[in-house]
Parts: sequence; structure tokens; C-alpha cells
Amino acid sequence: MLVDADLHIHSRYSKAVSKAMTIPNLAENARFKGLGLVGTGDILNPHWEAELLKYAKKVDEGTYELNEVRFLLTTEVEDSRRVHHVLIFPSIDTVREMREILRRYSTDIETEGRPHLSLSAAEIADIANELGVLIGPAHAFTPWTSLYKEYDSLEEAYGGAKIHFLELGLSADSEMADMIKAHHRLTYLSNSDAHSPMPHRLGREFNRFEVEEVTFEEIRKAILRRGGRRIVLNAGLDPRLGKYHLTACSRCYAHYSLGEAKAFKWRCPKCGGRIKKGVRDRILELADTNERPKDRPPYLRLAPLAEIISMVIGKGVETKAVRLIWERFLRDFGSEIMVLVDVPVGELARVHEEVAKAIWAYRNGKLIVIPGGGGKYGEIKLPEEIRRARVEELESVEVEVPDETERPRQRSITDFLKVAR
Ligand SMILES: [Zn+2]
Ligand SMILES: [Zn+2]
Repeated sequence: MLVDADLHIHSRYSKAVSKAMTIPNLAENARFKGLGLVGTGDILNPHWEAELLKYAKKVDEGTYELNEVRFLLTTEVEDSRRVHHVLIFPSIDTVREMREILRRYSTDIETEGRPHLSLSAAEIADIANELGVLIGPAHAFTPWTSLYKEYDSLEEAYGGAKIHFLELGLSADSEMADMIKAHHRLTYLSNSDAHSPMPHRLGREFNRFEVEEVTFEEIRKAILRRGGRRIVLNAGLDPRLGKYHLTACSRCYAHYSLGEAKAFKWRCPKCGGRIKKGVRDRILELADTNERPKDRPPYLRLAPLAEIISMVIGKGVETKAVRLIWERFLRDFGSEIMVLVDVPVGELARVHEEVAKAIWAYRNGKLIVIPGGGGKYGEIKLPEEIRRARVEELESVEVEVPDETERPRQRSITDFLKVAR
């Protein structure tokens, strides 16, 4: 069976997270979104653990369920060099055991969602491996709290300790991550890192797993690629929409090339702010291969449906107006991925013609993408020619997109379906 899973989110116990991030809200929104499995996030926090146990029923040691949505026990931790790691636990007992061990190295494990640990990446990985906990770097390339902001290789960070996956983060995709040879043996996870259960956040990245049933053990096998279990699709934000895609000023968001940033000594000449190296430039610095592993699943570049609706109707992405249209699409077609990828445009047009045209443009690489950087998300724009055209004439509309490099290279839908179905 296939299940769509988002394994990295945060609870309301983490900083800057919506108060609406509760277990029941998470289950409800995951179901709406078409996710059959979510990571709890923040499970080392005892209050969040208690909330999970209060609302969700146990399926097996490492798997819980509420409203037909399953949960795995996951968290993110920060190491002594402010590098983030994702952990996936086999049982609540293991969560508690690890919490006891980590208590000695943390002052905020009882209160924070993402605890800070006075341990190195290798030390954390050793503890995880000892307990049978899966571990890998979170959002591996981002400029503030990732492995590659601190180290030049996995080896340098983890030493000999085993890791099980690498999380791509919103500003990178599989193709970019594969430019580093050492990643070829690793499974990629594409997770949302959502701080709110809203539909443009939760599941904005997800992994489509092929497993026998939706349990920790099956997901573990898929991540380790054993017994025919595997990830068949990574779906994620178009990396250019990520907020650290290009090198840019973290105050005024002006974009710079790597050469310019170096020449300006990482100070923005426009406002004096600090320039942050973009994920794309960071990967280009480290790239050591043009080959790609044959078994890498396809990466589907998504634009969140709520953002497409927001762009079309010109209302904020968290407004009621956007939510209502989003719900109508979801009610008629089941899940966001069905709407974005699978349902014919003619049928979508019966719900909302303008939005259907924008989805057509997204599928056909005709949305204009303005890349993100410096902490500001990228933006999508609908070309005027498409806005003016009727649904039946879309195929013949000529669109002028300003710069070839700014165009989404959306994989052909038929290619994608062959693999994903
Ligand atoms: Zn993080
Ligand atoms: Zn600036």
C-alpha cells in the first residue's frame, strides 16, 4: 500500500509555533490534506507525549492513531554546535529512556519542543543507534542550523556513527542533494517542518511510502530500503520557493551571487544587514558528482494549493476565503495531491475556474516563480495570458516567462504517475 507521510513538524511547545498545533488539530488537518501518517515532532517533551497518549490510541509500540491518521514518535534536537537532527523512535519506552539520558545534557528538555543538547552530532548519533532510534540531519543545507552550515561533509559531523536518512529541507530537492556523492547511499526525507497545522504548512513536503502496513517497523524498513519497502516519491516545495534558496540579505532580502557576497564580505551594501549563503550556492560549493543513483525516487515539485488559491483570488493565505475554496476542492477530490496533480483540469474548473487554470499552469511549468532567499519565502505568480484565457484554450496559450532559469521544470505528470501509482 501507499501512504503519504510528513515526519517532521513541531508542537506548540516549540518556539514560534502556532497555539493551534494540538494532536487533534494535527490529525484533522492531516486527514484533510491526504496524509495517512505524521510524525508527532517534539516527543521528548513530556507534555506533548502526555497529549499524544491522551488522544491517540496505540497501534503497536511505535505507532499511534487518531481519526484514521497514524503517528510515529519523532523529534528534532539541536546539538552543541546548533546543528539540527531528526529522530524517529521505535517505542514510547525508548523515548523515555532517551529523555533520561539526555536530561544530563540539556536544561530545556522538559519545557522546549526541540531541546538544545550539549552533545556533538556524533555523540547524539551514538546514543540513537544504541537505542534503535533512527537519526539523520534535519534540513541539511539551510544556513542557520543545519549540518552543512557547520561542516563540509557527513563524515566530519558524525564521524563513524551511522545515520539512516537525510532530510532535504524546503530549499533543496533530490537532484540538488545528489550532487554530493556521499548522499547516494542515503534515503532522502522530504518533510514540512511545519509550525502550524494550516494546509499551506502541514504536508507542504511529504514522502510517499510503499509499505505493507502503516507502522514504525514498516517505515523503518522503507527508510533502510529493506524487504521491498521503500519511498516511491518525495514531494516538496519547489526548492526556489524555500526561504533560503538563493544567497540573500537577511534584512532587506536583496539577492546576491556567491562572488558578490564574498566581495561584500557578507555585509549587504544596501542596508548593512548580514548576507546568508543560499542552499543552492552551498550545494554548488560542495558538489562532487554529476551522476545520480538509479534507485532515487522522483521528486515532485509542489506549490501548496492554498498558496495557489491565495494568488488567484488575491487574499491572504490564512484567510477564510482561501480556506473555503481549499475545502471545496478537498471535499470533491479527496486530497491536495489529487487536486494538484491527478484530477483533469476540466473537472477542477467545476469547483473554481480561475484556480483550475492556475493549477494547469503549475502542472505545465507556466507559473512564474520568484525565488526565495535570506529568510524570505519565494513567490508564485500567474502569467496574465493564462488569467485571461478560457479553460478550453489553455493548451494554445503562449506564455512569456522572463528568465528561463526562473521556470519550474515540473516533471511530466505521466512520468510521475508511472512511478508513483
Ligand atoms: Zn530545525
Ligand atoms: Zn540588505
